[in-house]
Amino acid sequence: MLFGILQDPESGETIDKVLTTFMAGPHTYTGEDTVEINSHGGRVLLTRVLELVLTFGARMAEPGEFTRRAFLNGRMDLTQAEAVADLINARSDLARRRAVGMLQGSLGEIVSDCRDILVALRTRISAGIDFPDDVGEMVDPIADANQLRERVIERLLPIVHRYRHTRILTEGLRVAIVGRPNVGKSSLLNALLQRDRALVTDTPGTTRDTIEEAVDVGGIPVVFIDTAGLRASTDPVEQLGIERAWNAMDQAQLVLFVIDAAEGVCPGDRPFFERIDSDKTILVVNKIDIASGRLTELPSWPAVSISAKTRAGIATLESAIREKALNDELDDGELTCTPNFRQMSAIDAAISSVQSAIQGLFEDAPEMIVDIDLSKALSSLNAVMGNATDFDVLDEVFSRFCIGK
Ligand code: GDP
Repeated sequence: MLFGILQDPESGETIDKVLTTFMAGPHTYTGEDTVEINSHGGRVLLTRVLELVLTFGARMAEPGEFTRRAFLNGRMDLTQAEAVADLINARSDLARRRAVGMLQGSLGEIVSDCRDILVALRTRISAGIDFPDDVGEMVDPIADANQLRERVIERLLPIVHRYRHTRILTEGLRVAIVGRPNVGKSSLLNALLQRDRALVTDTPGTTRDTIEEAVDVGGIPVVFIDTAGLRASTDPVEQLGIERAWNAMDQAQLVLFVIDAAEGVCPGDRPFFERIDSDKTILVVNKIDIASGRLTELPSWPAVSISAKTRAGIATLESAIREKALNDELDDGELTCTPNFRQMSAIDAAISSVQSAIQGLFEDAPEMIVDIDLSKALSSLNAVMGNATDFDVLDEVFSRFCIGK
């Protein structure tokens, strides 16, 4: 690392005092020789430094280009490259912990162990096909089938199951806030977001479109969707908003149904009760600062009493949301190996092929057939780790990155 003055070589002008670091490949992030310039920062200064290096032959990196080079140079597998993007984009601390676990390569390790087992079995099977007399005695299809089950299926299946369990960590839990006009939906959203994002007014029907915001609730990224009040309306714009509210409610993983403590459940709430999936609903009784909240007609759903105005009960509501999202606490072991959709789909495909190979072995199918299943399973597992020639997949993965990462 050298300390010095960064000068424009043409004009001799001093741009900044900087530290420059030379890192020799292959022990660098990308595996190539790398130079970093540490400048004091600030928009004007950094633009000037950038212009200077661009004038003298450097070029801007594509989004994700550093990590793409790292992958192509064998510094990391694709699961680790994806973890870098997840780490940068993590919207909650649990999501960050998951990404760090994935960055350490635990998914890659399991997948490559399974791959080794499949390769070894294929080698034996092809030897059996080519030299049936020599290896005939060594082949034991039942033992092979059992080994596949114990050492491949039983390791891969939990990973696929974990995908479902932890999907919300990367994708966020979608929570719709619904209820009749003026019960305090927008106020509740603001209380949850802790700032004034949604417009709050005394006029019913002011929230005409749905508003989406992501926020960290106890480590879980939650996307709250505030909706238009659900009521019969003749205004076409409001009707459209109400239709969207129904859709938001159907698609949400959790619904907060807000009622006004002073009013309780009204006839206007009936369409909601007819449509709602009670398993994914929390009844929120709002405005307890002005009403007792002791209501007769409450359905027997989990209910939380709050005041969006004074924030009373908001913390309890947040824990109720968290509880609904994650039935149990995730331990670190679980977190370190949670696939994304791409990885899960490839692992799932590998499991089907291995299961088909196991069936073939049990039924004494021709070796050729078993070998085809194993070969399919191998290419699915290879896809998890990433294939340098699979340009579409690489473009898709690296398009999620920002410039310079
Ligand atoms: P929305 O139509 O359901 O989104 O309702 P808003 O959030 O716009 O609130 C309607 C009115 O109720 C506004 O005047 C709010 O100030 C008021 N309000 C909302 N929550 C509370 C609360 O907890 N206590 C009291 N006293 N007023 C509230």
